[in-house]
Parts: sequence; C-alpha cells; structure tokens
Amino acid sequence: MTPLSELAQGQQYPTAALYVVATPIGNIADVTLRALHVLGLVDRIAAEDTRNTGQLLARYGISKPLVAVHQHNERAAAQRLIEHLQAGERVAYVSDAGTPGISDPGAKLVDAVREAGYPIIPLPGASALATALSAAGDWVATFSFLGFLPPKAKARAATLQALAKHPHAMVFYEAPHRIVETVQALADAFDGERKLLIARELTKLHEALHCGTLAEGPTWLAADPNRQRGEFVLVVEGAQPEAAGEHDHDALLGILLEELTVSSAAKVAAAITGASRNALYTRALALKKDEE
Ligand code: SAM
Repeated sequence: MTPLSELAQGQQYPTAALYVVATPIGNIADVTLRALHVLGLVDRIAAEDTRNTGQLLARYGISKPLVAVHQHNERAAAQRLIEHLQAGERVAYVSDAGTPGISDPGAKLVDAVREAGYPIIPLPGASALATALSAAGDWVATFSFLGFLPPKAKARAATLQALAKHPHAMVFYEAPHRIVETVQALADAFDGERKLLIARELTKLHEALHCGTLAEGPTWLAADPNRQRGEFVLVVEGAQPEAAGEHDHDALLGILLEELTVSSAAKVAAAITGASRNALYTRALALKKDEE
C-alpha cells in the first residue's frame, strides 16, 4: 500500500499553522487518509472533547498532546494555542464529530488565529449536513443550513414563521429528546404537502432515511419509539414561489419602458423581481401596444 505521507502529497503542510480537521460522524472508517496524515504530523491536537478524540486517535495508533477547546473556553484556549503557533508548532483542531464550525466549536478559534496572522488549513471530511443532503434528491438543489432550532416552543414557532416563505430547502439538526416536538412544529408551521427527509443515525448501525411529507412526519416517528432515538438531520422542502399575477409588475415595467426597449425592460425587471423574463417581455409588449 502507498504510504500515507505519499498519498497526502500535493499540498504543503507548513509549520506555525492551524489545521482544521473533520472527523467521522459515526462510522470510524469515515476518516480521510489526509486527516490521519496531518493528525500524525502536528505537534498538538486541540479537541472539543479530549477523551473522545483520544479514543479516535488510539484506534489509528496516533498519540499527541491534547488540549481541550470547547464552547465554554474557546476564546481563552485560542490565545494559548496562538502561543504554540508563535513557537512554530503545527496545531490541529478537531470537534467531537464531523466538521468543526458546523454547529460545533471552531469558528472563534479560526477568527482568533486568522487575526493573529497564522494560516488556517481546512481538511474536508464527514459532516451530517452534506451526508444527509447527498441522499435527499433533486428538490434540495438550493438549501439553507439552519442548525438547531430554538429549544423553547415560542421562539421556535417565531423562527419557523419567519421562514414560512423561504424559497430554498432548509436543513436542521436535532437531538433525540426534541425530535418529536420539532417535527410537529415543522408540520404545524409549513404546508403539510412539503417534502421532509428524516435522516437518523447516519453512517451508524441503525441508520435510517425516511423521505415523505411534512404532514406524515409525526406519524412516522410515533409508529416506532426506536425511530425517535439517535441523532437527526431534518431537511424540509422550501416554499413554492407564489404565482405572480399577470399585472403584478406593470408599475415597474411602466417606469422601465419610459427609458428602455421592451426587451431591455423585461431583462431588468426579471433581474429585479426574479420573475420569468419571457412572461415580463410579453407583458411589456402588451403595455407598449396599449400606449400606442
Ligand atoms: N459538526 C457536526 C457536523 O459536521 O455535522 C455537527 C455537530 S452538532 C453538535 C451534532 C448534531 O449533528 C446532532 O445533534 C445531529 O443533529 C447532527 N448529527 C451528527 N452526527 C449525526 C449522524 N450520524 N446522523 C444524523 N445526524 C447527525
């Protein structure tokens, strides 16, 4: 087998740099060869949970000094890591699972290290977000990642209300103790006919993917208590575009037609409103004829 150091070539691994390394979201085999190479190369590994990361490293025979960098000490720990960078060390950061900075600590560390003038080198790998999206289908061609919804019912309902007309698919993370109420809240807030993908325990023994409608989501979860266990990604279809009335853009087209040709007015109006350029052209033509 080709040695790791050779496989990981094609990029420099400078000293005095922070390596942001993605780790598996369940299946321990989902670590990249490059991640193993870099974790073996760095002088120190900062980890959200040093015990957890210690176990991962042990499985791959890597032993390094570990530093805890979590939600509650991220800024202070960043300063200490910067001192290690000043001393010329390579430092890696790994979160508990998946890609750091995605609903995980890491972002404040990145800010502090960049501000201090040291390079940040990201190593891609597993993320529950990308894993769920890869199995969703064509309806998630555009999406927004919303992470965890507020835990309190009132704040959650307000957030969902503000998203009711959001045109892109929405991706949420959820923990087992809130999955039932969150899926119910989504079904209450949005049109029940929208698609919902429930992706549970991705890459693990009890992985399950259920794609149905929002209205049937609560029933699917209730049918078997085992379906409510584990970690979840929820992907909800975006709102259908509201059908624009034929005359909705007349005022805008009227102003544009004072200065522009029919074709240019349709082009500009389409860029401003997002409506169909052909439909706007037809309407602009009719308005121009009415004027003559
Ligand atoms: N940084 C991670 C990533 O890149 O996906 C996310 C960390 S966040 C603290 C943990 C949440 O991610 C879980 O509550 C769940 O919503 C989602 N998640 C993580 N692993 C998962 C898995 N194996 N299957 C489904 N969802 C998962």
